Amino acid sequence: MASRARYRYLAAMSEADPLISPRPTRQRKPDWIRVKAPVGSAFAETKALMRRLNLATVCEEAACPNIGECWTKKHATVMILGDTCTRACAFCNVKTGMPRAVDPLEPEHVAVAAAELGLSHIVVTSVDRDDLPDGGASQFVKVIEALRRNTPATTIEILTPDFRNKSERAVEAIVTARPDVYNHNLETVPRLYPTIRPGARYYASLRLLESVKRHDPSIFTKSGVMVGLGEQRLEVHQVMDDMRSADVDFLTMGQYLQPTPRHATVEEFVTPQAFNAYAAIARAKGFLLVAASPLTRSSYHAGDDFEKMRAAREAKLAARA
Ligand code: SF4
Repeated sequence: MASRARYRYLAAMSEADPLISPRPTRQRKPDWIRVKAPVGSAFAETKALMRRLNLATVCEEAACPNIGECWTKKHATVMILGDTCTRACAFCNVKTGMPRAVDPLEPEHVAVAAAELGLSHIVVTSVDRDDLPDGGASQFVKVIEALRRNTPATTIEILTPDFRNKSERAVEAIVTARPDVYNHNLETVPRLYPTIRPGARYYASLRLLESVKRHDPSIFTKSGVMVGLGEQRLEVHQVMDDMRSADVDFLTMGQYLQPTPRHATVEEFVTPQAFNAYAAIARAKGFLLVAASPLTRSSYHAGDDFEKMRAAREAKLAARA
């Protein structure tokens, strides 16, 4: 089909079916992808605090579109174990290379940041550290311990890598430190792993999520996927089923945005209506909580969502009693 005719065909299909939107001829963002510019002094204060404490953030390193909104509210997601990743995923803006030595002051600095930002809920993530014997698990444990000591009222959400070939021991160590939420993103459908997430294995990631629940069913588990990478709707439904089989509580879904021309291209801008349709299906599949919108990211509104998830679990338990 000629490209104009194909575009018209897809446009017509997208009107008939909200789950399909035409592939853009250029990578111009549609109107529904609107981001807030940073305003006020809080943004600059958050940035200055992170530099003073020598902390990296995924907000900056991943070029998150929500940074204006989140940092204005002093919500930042700390990225531990440095700013250099040992992997090179096709969707991710974090730089790849040989990371520096682990900073022994980092756990205390994360706790200071949580206190100074006044965080009731903190999200801590990391780069992949395939170079470390434990993949960096012990640093997650130290961060959780430092937060518990210094800001005991802050609830803790961790977003970990897959700890390739060492996930059992890594998960066991982290779960023993008892974060409130354990997040690990599946990122995309299994068919796209070789191109989008070549260093990872879909079923290994799924097993990691499963093993968190096996070790401690009281810890909330969370996982996310990006859409717009060329996945099919039924493949996304299958990922939801796989997550539910691993007893994942909370699903996040957001639009993939290409951080630079070197990264994977956007194959589709998924419409807000299509996100709503995905969310309805996910809820029917039994997730405690679903966040699905073009700008949803793993840590977007994480504190509010944690409260919702806790309330949903209590309501579910009360209904069973
Ligand atoms: S959504 Fe998460 S990563 Fe993005 S700016 Fe907000 S806190 Fe940072």
